[in-house]
Amino acid sequence: MKKTKQIDTYYCDYCGKECEQTPEYFMPEIRKVQYTSRCSKNIIRPSQKDICPVCQKQIAKLINLLHYAGFVGDDMEKVVYVLLKKSKA
Ligand SMILES: [Zn+2]
Repeated sequence: MKKTKQIDTYYCDYCGKECEQTPEYFMPEIRKVQYTSRCSKNIIRPSQKDICPVCQKQIAKLINLLHYAGFVGDDMEKVVYVLLKKSKA
């Protein structure tokens, strides 16, 4: 009797490398909702991500940096501006 075994392969949603499935990770994601042909709005929704150990570490470091530098709650444009200014100094 022939038996077929299905093996699912998962890839990191950030770097694309093969990784374990990580169903416990949900990240906030911007989605554009089109209400009418002329009216759309960006909304934030949780999105399940498969994330490899390397990217898990990088994301955790980035979140720590935002907390450490007091950027939480600021607009990303301001964060990028401040970081660019500091890197030029
Ligand atoms: Zn990755």
